[in-house]
Amino acid sequence: MKKENKFAAFIKKYGAYCMAGILVVAIAVTVVIASSDLESTNANLSPAENPIVSVSAPPALTFSVPMLNAEIVKEFSADGLYFNKTRGQWEYHGGVDLISDDMAVFSAADGKVSAVYSNYGDGQVVVITHSNNFKSVYSSLDADSLLVEVGDNVKHGDRIGTASDTANYEQLDGTHLHFELLQNDQKIDPSNYLEFENK
Ligand SMILES: [Zn+2]
Repeated sequence: MKKENKFAAFIKKYGAYCMAGILVVAIAVTVVIASSDLESTNANLSPAENPIVSVSAPPALTFSVPMLNAEIVKEFSADGLYFNKTRGQWEYHGGVDLISDDMAVFSAADGKVSAVYSNYGDGQVVVITHSNNFKSVYSSLDADSLLVEVGDNVKHGDRIGTASDTANYEQLDGTHLHFELLQNDQKIDPSNYLEFENK
């Protein structure tokens, strides 16, 4: 009883001081937190210390060969013409011709299927549009085993179909994938971006 009375008396006498002390500490802590927030905000806005590119850089575009263990049977015409057996003439080859054991064809990078069509020369074709103005074109596919349609979002390595012999301009080359890579609508050498094993 005596102890409690003593405590009550202490609170009665000094309670106001205690509350004031707590309030002062709380205000001090708030001020410190607020000023450090302000400092970090200023740091974020400083272009010299935090260049905008490091904040908003797009994810890198990763390309890979669109067939597993692919073998190149005809290369891109980087600096010469290739003989087209089917057409009996030397001509520019705007892509690489690939074969593999199972002829399965995969998207070379993340993107969106922007065209699916067929014509006499190229056979069944799928076009995938990627970031940075890249497009990849897959020709001579089997029309009956396509796994994508226009508007589909595809991830790097997603299966899109199977290579066949539907490209009549390359008929005598047999079943293969004719693969093209374009940047700004210009055909470029896919081997500049893809690691071909037998190149
Ligand atoms: Zn070809």
